Amino acid sequence: MKFETLAVHAGYSPEPTTKSVATPIYQTVAYAFDSAQHGADLFDLKVPGNIYTRITNPSCDALEQRVAALEGGIAALSVASGMTAITYAIQTIAEAGDNIISASTLYGGTYNLFAHTFPQQGIEVRFADARDPASFAQHIDERTKAIFCESIGNPLGNVTDIAALAEIAHSHGLPLIVDNTVPSPYLLRPIEHGADIVVHALTKYMGGHGTTLAGAIIDSGNFPWAEHKERFKRLNEPDVSYHGVVYTEALGKAAYIGRARVVPLRNTGGALSPFNAFQIMQGIETLPLRMDRICENAQALAQFLQDHPKVESVQYAGLPNHPDHELVQRQMNGKASGILSFNLKETSDDARAAGARFLDGLKLFTRLVNIGDNKSLATHPASTTHRQLNPEELALAGVSEGMVRLSIGIENIEDLKADLAQALENV
Ligand SMILES: *Cc1c(COP(=O)(O)O)cnc(C)c1O
Repeated sequence: MKFETLAVHAGYSPEPTTKSVATPIYQTVAYAFDSAQHGADLFDLKVPGNIYTRITNPSCDALEQRVAALEGGIAALSVASGMTAITYAIQTIAEAGDNIISASTLYGGTYNLFAHTFPQQGIEVRFADARDPASFAQHIDERTKAIFCESIGNPLGNVTDIAALAEIAHSHGLPLIVDNTVPSPYLLRPIEHGADIVVHALTKYMGGHGTTLAGAIIDSGNFPWAEHKERFKRLNEPDVSYHGVVYTEALGKAAYIGRARVVPLRNTGGALSPFNAFQIMQGIETLPLRMDRICENAQALAQFLQDHPKVESVQYAGLPNHPDHELVQRQMNGKASGILSFNLKETSDDARAAGARFLDGLKLFTRLVNIGDNKSLATHPASTTHRQLNPEELALAGVSEGMVRLSIGIENIEDLKADLAQALENV
């Protein structure tokens, strides 16, 4: 079935007991065993079934199937937030002494995890230039476990050439992990371009309504873990923490996503609430409709800002003068999603103050830190999401002091234009 149909139907059809048409919210912690033997068989993995909601839950399972179908993966794991998904995606294959190579243009939370928290726990993160796939290769050594990037960088809106980066990763026997939050699978399915693992902040466009935190990891099933026994020992040798299972033998193509569930998720517990799984499923039903309107609005506003005398530059890959414009045509059918950033013209104000004055003038756009809501949103990254970064780190992340980031919603375009125009009067 096609994308729009999967968005509404994948992962759930009326279940046989109650015939509920909407996906039921299985708000339960545990599941009854028919007998002591049944319980023992579940624990020995001899029979399929639910044991405890930290590990599996039917509402979360429905969401996982839907997200896997939309991304073109074989299976998915849902977790409490986008950050949990990124943490577990790395921890499933990397541990103290290992390293990963990541694009430096990242969501602020991911940058902090990679630049500080992982290194403090012994996992080194080496940064490379997302626009130069070859720059990743020079950092690879025998302890490298993955290459990581965002398909569209948040907040910069830069677009990554997934096929080029996948080729570098695969030629060194490494998986490519892609954070696909900003385009959503409606605009881009990284697995079709060679990515092995996809991660999501479902919190953003997938949920779409700014109500619910959630994350997911999607496994393409394509990476040959068993061909790299030395590098991916934890997937190829008996796991003492889980019945001595060898994941590549027991689960085949699903070795990675299986270990993600029974090691990082089971043992550290960042599970998704079934209620939140329901909320995200509701949002996904209208993802194609929302994304079309969001892209149309963002394209029109990027053009409007570019033509405005008080605006110095607009970064939106849908604009013909953007360096990634050709890639957007080739990889994403010409649609660049809903995030754009811009810099105000140099004035007597310093850049930070001009950005703040613009933000304070907005009446319809909400001042906050979030993206992917139906409502249009505005952020000043240098004073919020990227506040912890020092000037060198800011430069590496491509964030300037006066940069304003907009996340465009589904409102009427004339109202959005009028709000930006009157706020620019303030500057
Ligand atoms: C928001 C975001 C995250 C983190 O998601 P949470 O659900 O807030 O933890 C990760 N990556 C990107 C690109 C994001 O925009």
